[in-house]
Amino acid sequence: MDADILQTTALEQLERLRHTTSHVMAMAVQRLYPEAKVTIGPSIKDGFYYDFDRPQPFTPEDLKAIKKEMIRIVNQKLPVRQEVRDRAELQREIEKLGEPYKLELLQAIPAGEDVTVYYLGEQWWDLCAGPHLSNTSELNPKAFDLLSVAAAYWRGNEKNPMLQRIYGTAWETPEQLQEYLRRREEAKNRDHRKLGKELGLFIFSDEVGPGLPLWTPKGTVLRSVLQDFLQKEQLKRGYLPVVTPHIARVDLFKTSGHWQKYQEDMFPLMAEDEASRLSEQGFVMKPMNCPFHIQIYKSELRSYRELPMRLAEFGTVYRYEQSGQLGGLTRVRGFTVDDAHLFVTPEQLDDEFKKVVDLILVVFEKLQLSDFKARLSFRDPASDKYLGAPEAWAKAEGAIRRAVEQLAMPYFEGIGEAAFYGPKLDFIFRDVLGREWQLGTVQVDYQLPERFDLEFVGEDGTRQRPVMIHRAPFGSLERLVGILIEQYAGDFPLWLAPIQARLIPVTDQFNGYAQSVAEKLLDLGLRVEVDHSSERLNKKIRTAEKDKIPCMLVVGEKEVAEQLVNVRLRQEVEGLSGSLPLVDFMAQIKPLMAP
Ligand SMILES: [Zn+2]
Ligand SMILES: [Zn+2]
Repeated sequence: MDADILQTTALEQLERLRHTTSHVMAMAVQRLYPEAKVTIGPSIKDGFYYDFDRPQPFTPEDLKAIKKEMIRIVNQKLPVRQEVRDRAELQREIEKLGEPYKLELLQAIPAGEDVTVYYLGEQWWDLCAGPHLSNTSELNPKAFDLLSVAAAYWRGNEKNPMLQRIYGTAWETPEQLQEYLRRREEAKNRDHRKLGKELGLFIFSDEVGPGLPLWTPKGTVLRSVLQDFLQKEQLKRGYLPVVTPHIARVDLFKTSGHWQKYQEDMFPLMAEDEASRLSEQGFVMKPMNCPFHIQIYKSELRSYRELPMRLAEFGTVYRYEQSGQLGGLTRVRGFTVDDAHLFVTPEQLDDEFKKVVDLILVVFEKLQLSDFKARLSFRDPASDKYLGAPEAWAKAEGAIRRAVEQLAMPYFEGIGEAAFYGPKLDFIFRDVLGREWQLGTVQVDYQLPERFDLEFVGEDGTRQRPVMIHRAPFGSLERLVGILIEQYAGDFPLWLAPIQARLIPVTDQFNGYAQSVAEKLLDLGLRVEVDHSSERLNKKIRTAEKDKIPCMLVVGEKEVAEQLVNVRLRQEVEGLSGSLPLVDFMAQIKPLMAP
């Protein structure tokens, strides 16, 4: 408990430091470029930004000059002083300064509230509610840096003027700054958009549209391996595979409530004519698979003996994300959910929920994703965006809480993070760089069974209502692949690698032997290819390294004469290196091909 309090205070102190740095930057900018208009400059994760309105773009040289000026301000040891100002007087002062954004900010402060400004030294001030450090000398001039300039609209609205946002980072010590810059560089090198292109896994095409990835052959193999792995685990656990279409009548989503609650995130209605559009008749792309699986459940009168019924689909869904939010595979408009809907009796809920969590833990273990925590994503009682009665929510939230407590998992609560039809258990994964990603999710749902009037015949012959569990261990294949690329830095474990082995003939004359070995390995189920290029051996090896092929098999005169392969693995495995008889290699590689 004490450690927690300490941590919060340290974080608040760091936010104060970063926010103060943003004012120092604004002051430096206005000293150097008096025509620049100031707006706001909050602290953000790892740093701060400040938005300016200035006709000329800030150049990298400008950033250097601004940083130098900031250091000067720090060294001048300017006191940071709060002053409560008279509203009318301040307004006149701002008008004289010609700062339209400051004026707008002032006018947005509710009447009756104190208007505070902060002075850095005697002349320069900024409209702000604080808190700040008390003197610019509390900043360490070797512990902050300016990083980049980006465009941003005033107040995030594209109808407003376009501003220039300068991003910076600030820390307590130079060592912390260096460590952050190192992590930032490492994140750039691991960036899945960069590696995905280099490794030939997926592309984006302007002609197709933003947020719509196209999977190239290697990326498609990677996806299939992931799907097959999960499919196998699911079949072992009694899941039943289904396939459903990508579009449906809008009425289906009116019944589910998606049209009412989720319409902004759906692609627009496909209507045959204006009259149909106005009366909301037509088809929509599916944003979720649930209503389809519900139709399969509903197609027959179900008995309690058939439950739990676990319908599973790698279902591709479409969501109309704002194009500004799209980036790589982690935010896309079309993606495939490793979805399943479990229809259970109320008595089966707790047990089935735990089984789902167990499956998710198995999946994470095989993918070597060990650093995660569970978030109990509950509804915000103050919001009206949720479907259903509070009692049903309490029941569903209770089931989730019992499960994590019985499984003794570390968890935290996320109020307001629930889906609109039910609470969720989300798995938040922390990657090697300390960044957090949401992966698998499990939801308990009393609403959709109600809205679709789902039933089963109970043991006593009466009609009863099932409960639904929605779950996706991966979340989506796109997101998972993006995260795995970054987590492994493109170095996939052998079982996942699109190309597992490459045969490298020392010269052209061994191509025939290489080909015959490749055919034997393909028969074994290994994903293998032959480097037929006429490059020199060293170049071929370098290329295989760049392509991050887990296993290189070099063959030359000796290998041909004695039916050997010369093995080089990227990640060492005991006994699997150097010249080995082909049959031995095949026996030893086999177990590494499974997850
Ligand atoms: Zn401030
Ligand atoms: Zn669902």
